[in-house]
Amino acid sequence: MWEKVIENLKNKVETQDLEKLSLVEPIFVSEDKITLAIPGEQIKELLKSKYKNQLKESLKLIFNKLPKIELIIKTQDKDNLNSKYGFENFVVGPSNQLAYAASVAVSENPAKAYNPLFIYGGVGLGKTHLLHAIGNSIKKNNPNARVLYISSEEFTNELINSIQYKKMTQFRNKYRNLDCLLIDDIQFISKKERTEEEFFHTFNALYESQKQIIITSDKPPNEIPDIENRLKSRFSWGLIVDIQPPELETRIAIIRKKAELFNLEISQEIIEFIASSISSNVREIEGALIKISAYKSIMRKPVTLNLVKSILQDIIIRKEKMLTAENIQKTVAKHFNISVDSLKSSTRKKEILIPREIAMYLTRKITKNSLPEIKAKFGVKSHATIINACKRIESEMEKDINLKKKVEEIEKEITDV
Ligand code: ADP
Ligand code: MG
Repeated sequence: MWEKVIENLKNKVETQDLEKLSLVEPIFVSEDKITLAIPGEQIKELLKSKYKNQLKESLKLIFNKLPKIELIIKTQDKDNLNSKYGFENFVVGPSNQLAYAASVAVSENPAKAYNPLFIYGGVGLGKTHLLHAIGNSIKKNNPNARVLYISSEEFTNELINSIQYKKMTQFRNKYRNLDCLLIDDIQFISKKERTEEEFFHTFNALYESQKQIIITSDKPPNEIPDIENRLKSRFSWGLIVDIQPPELETRIAIIRKKAELFNLEISQEIIEFIASSISSNVREIEGALIKISAYKSIMRKPVTLNLVKSILQDIIIRKEKMLTAENIQKTVAKHFNISVDSLKSSTRKKEILIPREIAMYLTRKITKNSLPEIKAKFGVKSHATIINACKRIESEMEKDINLKKKVEEIEKEITDV
């Protein structure tokens, strides 16, 4: 119905006003009454002073009678910010201090400190937490700031919807008029041509009008596969910082902080046990504490180390299950695009030999397998083959930074479970 009204109005409205009026959204429509949500006082005035009669005429034409018109000012757009994530409850350690400091700087001086700020790192390391903390802090300093948190998937969905329902003007107005855009997990726009295109223009519009953009991803810009170069290069215009898995001391501090938040009293021994059992993912640490809390309140028993061990057993077992020679072979083969069987063959071809030696090196480094076991898994005849492979990879990694990075990346994928 409303589309028809707008269609009819088109001929009667000056072009520069049409765009503004198309932001008006009907939120209730019947023959008796129509309620229009208007984004701001200015457009309301425009509608009342300049186009009141035209609007009435169009409505009459479409509804055959004139419904009562109610104009309301649209409430502020949602910012999607979660107040639970702040700087004050983010535990800082060597692994995340740069990302933290850059986030604080950006929130204190939006668009002046670093623009864009690009934060990357593995799952569960606090990227989303920092995004919300930046948004919350900007809003606290300036309650009128237009801040929006969105994941790149939601951005894509919203774009698709806007295309489908012909609401691109609204979409663009929404994104291009922000003071601060916090976009999470940008890697998911890869291969989505139209989204990349639209995000490119959004980025340019915001950047040119000196608005803050903060982006997170699982990888640095130049390593995100299948994403346009012009985007990658823009992502690198400001500051790029990474978040690494927290060191033992930081994990201990995080556990302390979270236990406090959950009102969970646990001994230092238990804290250390959790910190050493779960190493690569803060979300998982949190999950463990929630589980322990739940047990505590259901069982009404003191939390002992043995209880914690049994509660966390599945996490620990799952980790051990992943740390097998078979899984290492599979992951290495995938990274080098070769078959697992070729890793067990005795060929000297370089394309096979290097991955094969990497797989042996990783198996020796991160599994509990003995040399005879590794020998059997790779089908080699002597221990020396494995020991030499490990030595060679270690010394190659010292000489070749790319190889080192590659091996570390594979290791991370295997141990990050
Ligand atoms: P990511 O977006 O990097 O996958 P999240 O920001 O969602 O990770 O973090 C996962 C959980 O771990 C969140 O509940 C977050 O609050 C918590 N977390 C991560 N890092 C920290 C930290 N340094 N201090 C406190 N909590 C943290
Ligand atoms: Mg996240």
